[in-house]
Amino acid sequence: MSSLFPALADGPHERVALRFGERSLTYGRLAAATGALAGRIAGQRRVAVWATPTLETAVAVVAILEAGIAAVPLNPKSGEKELAHILSDSAPGLVLAAPGDQLPDALKEFERVDVELEADGAPRSAAEASGEDAALVVYTSGTTGPPKGAVLPRRALAHTLDALADAWQWTEDDVLVHGLPLFHVHGLVLGVLGPLRRGGSVRHLGRFTPEGVARELGDGATMLFGVPTMYHRIAQALPDDPGLAQALGGARLLVSGSAALPVHDHERIAAATGRRVIERYGMTETLMNTSIRADGKARPGTVGVPLPGVELRLVEEDGTPITAYDGETVGEIQVRGANLFTEYLNRPDATEAAFTADGWFRTGDMAVRDPDGYVRIVGRKATDLIKSGGYKIGAGEIENALLEHPGVREAAVTGEPDADLGERIVAWVVPADPEKPPAAEELADHVARRLAPHKRPRTVHYLDALPRNDMGKIMKRALSRA
Ligand code: ATP
Ligand code: MG
Repeated sequence: MSSLFPALADGPHERVALRFGERSLTYGRLAAATGALAGRIAGQRRVAVWATPTLETAVAVVAILEAGIAAVPLNPKSGEKELAHILSDSAPGLVLAAPGDQLPDALKEFERVDVELEADGAPRSAAEASGEDAALVVYTSGTTGPPKGAVLPRRALAHTLDALADAWQWTEDDVLVHGLPLFHVHGLVLGVLGPLRRGGSVRHLGRFTPEGVARELGDGATMLFGVPTMYHRIAQALPDDPGLAQALGGARLLVSGSAALPVHDHERIAAATGRRVIERYGMTETLMNTSIRADGKARPGTVGVPLPGVELRLVEEDGTPITAYDGETVGEIQVRGANLFTEYLNRPDATEAAFTADGWFRTGDMAVRDPDGYVRIVGRKATDLIKSGGYKIGAGEIENALLEHPGVREAAVTGEPDADLGERIVAWVVPADPEKPPAAEELADHVARRLAPHKRPRTVHYLDALPRNDMGKIMKRALSRA
């Protein structure tokens, strides 16, 4: 396996590959810059990248992959403790940063190489590397515990990006609007390496705003990748911004992932723009597992079908596979395929525990399958499945019901220990108007009417904001302790 990016050698050399704000690089200049940098870092095993949302980060990661070695993207907003953990865990040989970046003390002991965008000389060809060689060590989002370093081999990147190209009819003519950080799979693998593997283009907003999205989609961009908090902001902005509605209506593909897209936001966007947001489901450890296909029908609350080359099954608690496609029988999602990581770095026990004896990866996510095979995620086994009064209740559907109440801006649902019920349904609500929060009784009745009486929240807590991580995911561990 040689280069993951054929367009670096073959062109089109004049096409813009990357644009971050005012600065851009064509494929020709990207090949020169990454070739020069790959030469400087050759012989390393793992190289860290100070992953700000800049051209330099994209160039650094591509250069590392062209050199046939592994990149460790670092979150520049990490706290000192987390950064120290990631550095001692991954032991990079050096760190790449943009000239002028101030690095924290934890990085001072590492050799630093600045990423230069201007490079002269003939492009060099990519180093030979095997598909099983590590390409990235990506730390999980830390939603359920301390982040773990997932070692992703080159074949997993190639597999996932080519499967998405198939599902999304993704070509070199696509121009992606991007507003996500570059140290997780979503922003880095899908958002940067994806367009580059296709020979297409990326335009990074620096900071996500609905106005930036409208501007780029109005100016030739074809697709948008976002997390649910971004689509929520878009849904909020739409009523006052006809230009935004028009721009989204003209997009080829709007894709959401990293967490469940609330049904309410999906419907509001569809009503205002005529476009349905497509959901896909993935993890750091597995890259992408399922998606609504570009030629398929998007249904709110579903993440579509397994991608080509991905095997997916639901299993009961005792490991028995569930064969029913009845939209009701809940099981844990397990996956198998060339998209999977090889191991958690330095965590042989966690790696072993994550796989079944016959090689299926236990995702820890619970789902049902609809009659047409669409996967509908119910939530995480650890935090979103509430066992109350003999029922197993998914937090997600209660959250969706709460969000349909006009007095609710944000909602999260947890299960708290209860002497009678085992667990009690607790709602955490950010009111639309902090002066006039809807009464707990009213919210409980609203949920009971929409779903079922046993799904009514027993307690409602009111908050100014939900605790979220840098991908906008709700940190339920922090909630229960709030
Ligand atoms: P950690 O593993 O450190 O607790 P994390 O699981 O949030 O954090 P990631 O690997 O970034 O770290 O996220 C993967 C998880 O995100 C999945 O297991 C799933 O729970 C959730 N997820 C991703 N896409 C979707 C989606 N479309 N709908 C619902 N959940 C999703
Ligand atoms: Mg996880």
